[in-house]
Amino acid sequence: MKLTWSGTVVGIQPRIRLLRSFDQRSHTYLGYSLRVDGDLDGQQCTFVVGIGDGAQQKNAIRAGDMARGLGQPPADPRRECLDLYKVSKLTVERSEPTIHPRPPFRGVPPALEDYRARGHRRLAARTYAAKCTSCLWGCQMAVEIVKDHWNRNASTSWRKETFCYGPKSCSLYRPGPTRKVPGRRGMCYEEEDWVDEDATAHRGPDE
Ligand code: SF4
Repeated sequence: MKLTWSGTVVGIQPRIRLLRSFDQRSHTYLGYSLRVDGDLDGQQCTFVVGIGDGAQQKNAIRAGDMARGLGQPPADPRRECLDLYKVSKLTVERSEPTIHPRPPFRGVPPALEDYRARGHRRLAARTYAAKCTSCLWGCQMAVEIVKDHWNRNASTSWRKETFCYGPKSCSLYRPGPTRKVPGRRGMCYEEEDWVDEDATAHRGPDE
């Protein structure tokens, strides 16, 4: 069943799912997430709507735009960081472009390929919630953790993690604690700082 939604887009971020298996990780690029202040099925609230890459390329949505459509609650909420997806009848009213030279950064987000090429650093969940939900470089990912590749169905768990794809010089950035990934037989992998440094080493501090 699809629900009606409408409101002001207060943030747009990439919609990415992360698969972790001990020290291995891979990303699935699903599209974009719109954070909307408005009406969800008759309730005034802030909610998150997932749209596909094609819809974003067509509409070039940015924070400040008005949007509306129909959407469906996720079948498995563990796999998503949103309230609605499978959006149809999407319509967008463009806002006047404004310049936001300081973080959180707003505007039309780059292509998903650009996010992949930039790489990310872990971002403290508390900082994300307080400062970064409207920034186009922020991302909350649904994370699938596979403890045992040989028995994948029985050993999979899910959690949420937050990341920053933005300039390394951002004054709002806080890494938070390192991420731990459970493995087989009680083992645990700790993702240390060098992983983030390596993933973003090709970028200067202001890129
Ligand atoms: S820490 Fe990252 S996500 Fe947060 S405002 Fe800065 S650039 Fe944006």
